[in-house]
Amino acid sequence: MNPPRHETKATCCYCGVGCGVIIETDGQQVTGVRGDPDHPANFGRLCSKGSTLHLTAQPLLQQQVRALQPEMRTDRNQPRRNASWDATLAYMAERFADTIARHGPDSVAFYVSGQMLTEDYYVFNKLAKGLIGTNNIDTNSRLCMSSAVAGYKRTLGADAPPTCYEDIDHAQVIFIVGSNTAFAHPILYRRIEDARKNNPELKIIVADPRRTDTAREADLFLAILPGTDVALFNGMLHICLWEELTDSAYIAAHTEGFAELKQTVRDYTPAYVSAVCGIPQADLMQAARWFGASKATLSLYCQGLNQSASGTDKNVALINLHLATHQIGKPGAGPFSLTGQPNAMGGREVGGMANLLSAHRDLGNPQHRAEVAALWDLPSVPSQPGKTAVELFEAVRQGQIKIIWIACTNPAQSMPDQKLIREALRTAELVIVQEAYTSTATVAYADILLPATAWSEKEGTVTNSERRITRFKPALPPPGQTRHDWRIAVDFAHALEARIGCNTLSGSTLFPYDSVEQIWNEHRASTRGRDLDISGLSFALLEQRGPQQWPFPEGASSGRKRLYQDGRFPTASGRAKFVNVAYQAVAEPIDVRYPFALTTGRLRDQWHGMSRTGTVAQLFSHAGEPAVMMNPGDMQRRFLTAGDLVHVTSRRGTQILPVQTGDDMRSGQVFIAMHWGEEYLSGRGPRQNPDDACYGVNAMTNPAFCPSSFQPELKHAAVKVLKA
Ligand code: SF4
Repeated sequence: MNPPRHETKATCCYCGVGCGVIIETDGQQVTGVRGDPDHPANFGRLCSKGSTLHLTAQPLLQQQVRALQPEMRTDRNQPRRNASWDATLAYMAERFADTIARHGPDSVAFYVSGQMLTEDYYVFNKLAKGLIGTNNIDTNSRLCMSSAVAGYKRTLGADAPPTCYEDIDHAQVIFIVGSNTAFAHPILYRRIEDARKNNPELKIIVADPRRTDTAREADLFLAILPGTDVALFNGMLHICLWEELTDSAYIAAHTEGFAELKQTVRDYTPAYVSAVCGIPQADLMQAARWFGASKATLSLYCQGLNQSASGTDKNVALINLHLATHQIGKPGAGPFSLTGQPNAMGGREVGGMANLLSAHRDLGNPQHRAEVAALWDLPSVPSQPGKTAVELFEAVRQGQIKIIWIACTNPAQSMPDQKLIREALRTAELVIVQEAYTSTATVAYADILLPATAWSEKEGTVTNSERRITRFKPALPPPGQTRHDWRIAVDFAHALEARIGCNTLSGSTLFPYDSVEQIWNEHRASTRGRDLDISGLSFALLEQRGPQQWPFPEGASSGRKRLYQDGRFPTASGRAKFVNVAYQAVAEPIDVRYPFALTTGRLRDQWHGMSRTGTVAQLFSHAGEPAVMMNPGDMQRRFLTAGDLVHVTSRRGTQILPVQTGDDMRSGQVFIAMHWGEEYLSGRGPRQNPDDACYGVNAMTNPAFCPSSFQPELKHAAVKVLKA
């Protein structure tokens, strides 16, 4: 007799498209996965990564790569040993209480992840800011979306993408910039292909330093030089002004600050912009005309804008262009940031970053702090800004932060300047790593390993790029001794409260949760009256009616597809703000010693540090090994042939890699995919030496960050390439 089959609705745990999946199990293991035909993000489609999710959850594999038992060491010269949850949490609480008593609450820090569910994020944020009293909680979303957050807030007044996926179907022009959508958001790209079939008049413009698969299909490709996006957008606005493609009535009625911006963009003549960006003037003119004259222009953008030392300015300059041409607040039009991780949006919603508070509140705003303190029954929440990702690891390295708790992310691969990160992890007095996998580079530095549940075992909510919240339930019980991320934080919080006392005004615990739904309900109550108000979105409603977009206030019959259609913005004046920004070159320009511009990015079939996709053999058929991609002319001039080993060296580090011909590369540029870390470069399996130098591309990348968003410039570093 065949075992009974169970089906559970969830979302794909990879990118921010947030595709719905149906997980099939026999009650013991995942037996299959297919796209959810009812989910509005994908209507049943899945890409190569999503459709192989079940292969990453096979029992034998789980035994090999999963963290299934707490492990601990009290002497760093000893290996970690299995420990009980009670002993591990008690030891952690003792170390936190002692360190906080001796050095203050800012001597501890949390580094969490956009892979977490919203409820996990909420509890960690409350643990740091509510119970411990530190804002030292940042997330790998800092490496992903913080420039988009800052860009939206500075111009439109709130961190809210104003568009939806359906806008792809209504657009007349789609402007894809700094995004290889075909690889990084494949199901969304399928929708663009469909829109093109349905509307042969649809024009697609792609701006990217590389001729990616996305760029190859464009009607117009602008091969801009790395980091020149602000010049491009200001130049397009200059042309729109000159050719009267701006909307004076809309500017006058719904915006402020245009006069100052106009003065700045006067200098961005086609000749100047063409020289700065390295593109023909005719192409620049064509792009501006299509953008400004179309009935509806939709911009899709991602890490090419965000991962930059001027990331906020790039976002702002693009939104300026949308506002000036009234390409916003109507079907098919608007700036649309594509989220990298599955729940970077949810993390932003609960304020899970060093400069944010719950429900899009700002740490720097005294009224917002008072509101959060009242919601949490506390006398106050701390006002001292927390350390953002790069600053946080630097503070660990300098000994200011003694304890770091890393959850659901792998900074020993993903952060820029790995030498700095490794020094920090060696310097910390206590490194706690909460993980589902034992294979990540960061686990090698853990004094305490907390085994967490993974995709198909978790329950909670995620928000995708179009503000759509999906609730899902576990398909399988937690394996071994794993616990849910939120549960680990709550159990630790109770252990810490037992030592340092409850700091609430009522004297009761800050963490009265026994279910995910209780956390969700507290989170949604905190959003009442805010731009992302989801007070009407109960678990029962999500269950009954499926995924919904925010805002969804109490009494609403549906979420809102598109924002700002009435021309009112969530700023003090109700008007959108033009922000006057000027082009600045990349933080580390190329020179004679480091003559190549290194750019980084994703491959089609891999995800981040490969802890999950790296376990599926068929996902290596697209690209089987790491390589540095180089322009054929540059290879010829250096007497290199495909497969030769080369040293790629920046001011911070070096890696040896095979060189491959990159037909998509301009001369003077090289590309390395972000995915391979040391466990792949030095052979899989437990590493003998955590300090070996095979760090992956982030051995070379630059930790310089945007002064507004604090997002580092992972997309550009100056390197030299020499035959090994
Ligand atoms: Fe998963 Fe993204 Fe692929 Fe959808 S597009 S299946 S969310 S990786």
